[in-house]
Amino acid sequence: MSDERTKGYRGESLETLEAFSFGVWDDVILTTTRGEFRGIILPRSEFDDSRHLVLKLSTGYNVGIDVRTITAVAIKGSKEAHYKIPEKEFPVSPDKPYVKLLGTGGTIASRLDYRTGAVIPAFSPGELYGAVPELADICNLSTEKLFGVFSENMGPHEYKTLARAIGQEIENGIDGIVVGHGTDTMHHTASALAFMVQNSPVPIVMVGSQRSSDRPSSDAALNLIHATTTAATSDIAEVMVCMFGPTSDEYGLLHRGTRVRKMHSSYRSTFRTIGDTPLATVTREGVVPLRSDYNPRRTDREVAILPTFEDRVTLLYYYPNMHPDIIDAIVDVGYKGIVIAGTGLGHVNKPVYPAIERATAAGVAIYMTVQTLWGYVHMFVYDTGRDLMAKGIIPTENMLPEVAYIKLGWALGQTDDLEKVKSLMLTPICGEITEREPHDGYLVFQGGMPEIEDFMKRVHK
Ligand code: ASP
Repeated sequence: MSDERTKGYRGESLETLEAFSFGVWDDVILTTTRGEFRGIILPRSEFDDSRHLVLKLSTGYNVGIDVRTITAVAIKGSKEAHYKIPEKEFPVSPDKPYVKLLGTGGTIASRLDYRTGAVIPAFSPGELYGAVPELADICNLSTEKLFGVFSENMGPHEYKTLARAIGQEIENGIDGIVVGHGTDTMHHTASALAFMVQNSPVPIVMVGSQRSSDRPSSDAALNLIHATTTAATSDIAEVMVCMFGPTSDEYGLLHRGTRVRKMHSSYRSTFRTIGDTPLATVTREGVVPLRSDYNPRRTDREVAILPTFEDRVTLLYYYPNMHPDIIDAIVDVGYKGIVIAGTGLGHVNKPVYPAIERATAAGVAIYMTVQTLWGYVHMFVYDTGRDLMAKGIIPTENMLPEVAYIKLGWALGQTDDLEKVKSLMLTPICGEITEREPHDGYLVFQGGMPEIEDFMKRVHK
């Protein structure tokens, strides 16, 4: 079967299309062990699993059908022509703020027509307006596609290009910036931008979607509406991540770019602020700050763009029984920096110590973070921690491991002088190191509160 007829299908779902000789855009009646379903077979994104077909029912809802339940297929016709995002001219209202959407790829860029369920890359302002007409009530939107990659392919080159593009937009007078991005590494890019774009006068809002827009449960449109509202109207002029707050679509959360992390592989409410509280909530009505210690919006155009990155930096997740040869190998191939995510307060096993000593003696910058994510590195508590520090490891307070990795790459990109690197690393720039963490923040939703006890009872019947 041609690629057009099987678009996005693979594995068992592809075999089913071939076995029953039907394909994408066919109007079919599927007989399954769970009953009969009539609808149009939609193309799929390559992110979707390989066991389901997506059927658009006449009600407008999309359903996933497990191919193992299908017993017969009757083809009634084909309806491709209906599934195109209408490209409407984005209306310009001089009284509304001007927002630029810079696209890098990810699910949010793959499809955005949440009403028709089309699987079409939507990116021009016209396409976005066709798909999410509410955007025109918020701002004057212009768009630029910088890359079209899934976010595991983002890296130093992309970070720098993005930082420069943001600098240019700020210089040109934009009121706010939205960065469309895959969710998987959004928190890495958010911290790269937080270090590379300092003192921004306008909000820089990263957004993505966990569920593609041909699914009724897609978060693409709402996240985009929230992010655009933030870029257009928020007083918070920082690098933020804007994604679903609770599991419902009640509100979005704005997380500081250096304190956020993707915490669930598939839930829409996956991004959580770690070691702190989120900056704000956002609804269609606007942004409600949850705290006041943020950089406020300004009208000047002063911004520092610092697009540097040394890519011979690595993040080493310690595990018991790590052998020293791993560290020797990293040094031998020329790495200049290592961030270790250690156990507990910041530990690694004794056999690794000599390798660490060799590495620091060879001029490799080594920084310690904690695997626990919440809490601080404390290397004075045990002798082992003191020993490690004597060997040259530098603790990074409560910087998240990924953030420390990005910051070390950024700092070593500017200078080889390890004292200067240390001063950059340990001087907080945008919330990556904080004086204290909310002491019980990590307990939220883990029990001990009446509503959580109720929840526990429901889960563990
Ligand atoms: N794998 C995708 C990415 O990060 C997932 C997403 O877009 O949410 O690019």
